[in-house]
Amino acid sequence: MEDCIFCKIAKGEINSDKVYEDEKFVAFRDINPQAPVHILIIPKVHIPKLCDTEDANLLGEMILIANKIAEKENIKDRGYRIVINTNREAGQSVDHLHLHLLGGRIMKWPPG
Ligand code: 5GP
Ligand code: ZN
Repeated sequence: MEDCIFCKIAKGEINSDKVYEDEKFVAFRDINPQAPVHILIIPKVHIPKLCDTEDANLLGEMILIANKIAEKENIKDRGYRIVINTNREAGQSVDHLHLHLLGGRIMKWPPG
């Protein structure tokens, strides 16, 4: 989609620190990390929000990619968190579905 920053990252039109790519997904480091490991996993197809899809395979694959990356980043056993902010009150700021993978520090609960 034109003017979507994550579509541009997926196409390589905007630089990012990519840590994973396959035919359907890209993962890259967040520009404003909230933890020592903070990676965003996105589908290449433009889906604005979690509530806009019923594609269980796509959502499942995104989570499995997060597991793989957590292992690569050495946070699998220490602990990690996945987050999908959806809509305004949850703090979604980019309208292209993305899963946050966070780790490398002790996390608080409940989240802010
Ligand atoms: P949200 O707040 O929508 O859940 O998450 C959007 C995330 O995208 C934020 O954590 C923000 O730092 C990150 N972000 C926004 N623009 C860019 C960018 O151009 N490059 C990268 N790598 N991350 C971005
Ligand atoms: Zn997009």
